[in-house]
Amino acid sequence: MQQYDLLIIGGGPAGSTLAYSLRNAGLKIGILDKQAFPRQKICAGWVTPQVMRMLNIDLDDYALRNTLQKINGFKISMLGQQQVESSFPGEPVSYGIRRIEFDDYLLQRCGAELILNEAFKKMQSIEDGWQVNDDYAAKLVVGAGGHYCPVARAIGSKGVSELAVVAQEAEFEMSAQQKQSCTIKEAVPELFFTPDLMGYGWVFRKGDYLNIGLGREDKNKLSGHVQQFCDYLVAQGKIPADITAKYNGHAYLLYNHALREMVADHVLLIGDSAGLAYPQSGEGIRPAVESAILAARVIGTCNGDYSKEKLQAYNDLMQQRFGERQPEPDLMERLPMPVKRLFASQLMKTRWFTKKVVTEKWFLQSQQTPLPAIEE
Ligand SMILES: Cc1cc2nc3c(=O)[nH]c(=O)nc-3n(C[C@H](O)[C@H](O)[C@H](O)COP(=O)(O)OP(=O)(O)OC[C@H]3O[C@@H](n4cnc5c(N)ncnc54)[C@H](O)[C@@H]3O)c2cc1C
Repeated sequence: MQQYDLLIIGGGPAGSTLAYSLRNAGLKIGILDKQAFPRQKICAGWVTPQVMRMLNIDLDDYALRNTLQKINGFKISMLGQQQVESSFPGEPVSYGIRRIEFDDYLLQRCGAELILNEAFKKMQSIEDGWQVNDDYAAKLVVGAGGHYCPVARAIGSKGVSELAVVAQEAEFEMSAQQKQSCTIKEAVPELFFTPDLMGYGWVFRKGDYLNIGLGREDKNKLSGHVQQFCDYLVAQGKIPADITAKYNGHAYLLYNHALREMVADHVLLIGDSAGLAYPQSGEGIRPAVESAILAARVIGTCNGDYSKEKLQAYNDLMQQRFGERQPEPDLMERLPMPVKRLFASQLMKTRWFTKKVVTEKWFLQSQQTPLPAIEE
């Protein structure tokens, strides 16, 4: 039986950030992931400079071997309406990464013992912790397995009436001919909100790669919506007509609509496992990283006591940082849907709303001071 202080289930950004934050804490840490790395992860792959700073990533070093697309603007519209472009000259306001590279980079440097290509199957309570599968014992099991995290399920934390965002996406390397017929500018991703206000589609060019996707907080007929969106992009002359890449699906929870408990005895959930994505953008990497940093702070003060009472401090920190779950609807949310749609379609035509609200507030989270960077 392998003994660990912490066994983290899932080697995505949440899991690797937690291990990296605690690499000098004198704890024996393992990360178990069902996949071998590098592995593909369905994601548009934009991250803000704040995330890179919190993670202490040396951008020049990262860009030596990995795609790092600088972003200096966004084109935003309601699907079918005129697009409005916002520019941010100077330093990039966001970066395009490929998750197959980004997640591997974070995992390989995190300092934990890696147990890859092995799925979490079960956990049983033992004295002072849990036994995971038949081979591992841990004083603290951390659920970092993403939206379908088996640890969240094992502690009964997955809410029965969870309202998830479901999304489909394709990322592929364009041929020389496809590159010529793609009119998307590399530094300017394009976002298209659906007129029913249930979600948005995006198209994003990262060097030779094109990423196209659409997510909705409504799982009905998702493939049909994705198909319509792609047909629209082709008709507008934005993407090549001969795309054969397969669209894959995944889901995530928006923080304010999630119901998941984040702590139990000797168990803690971070990242998508806890359901943390930002409500308007669905950005989940920053909340995953921030939850891992906050979890590391609490674990560092536990002195090996991982009882639910002790771990409650993590819940408190998360609430201070991300606010209350299931808040009362604000004035805009209380408006009848037809009125809301009318408002939204008018606002999406204005430069002020698309730049100040959609881009800066929702997508760049520029009002939210980042947490201090993880120490070298
Ligand atoms: C279509 C789409 C587009 C998105 N675009 C963006 C974006 O542009 N920017 C952004 O910030 N966020 C985006 N997100 C959200 C973002 O992908 C997630 O919030 C983020 O990946 C969460 O990180 P995580 O470490 O919590 O989980 P994940 O990255 O999902 O990692 C979970 C890990 O757990 C492992 N695992 C799962 N089950 C098991 C098991 N049974 N046993 C062992 N291991 C297991 C998986 O193999 C995986 O490696 C997007 C999401 C989707 C679906």
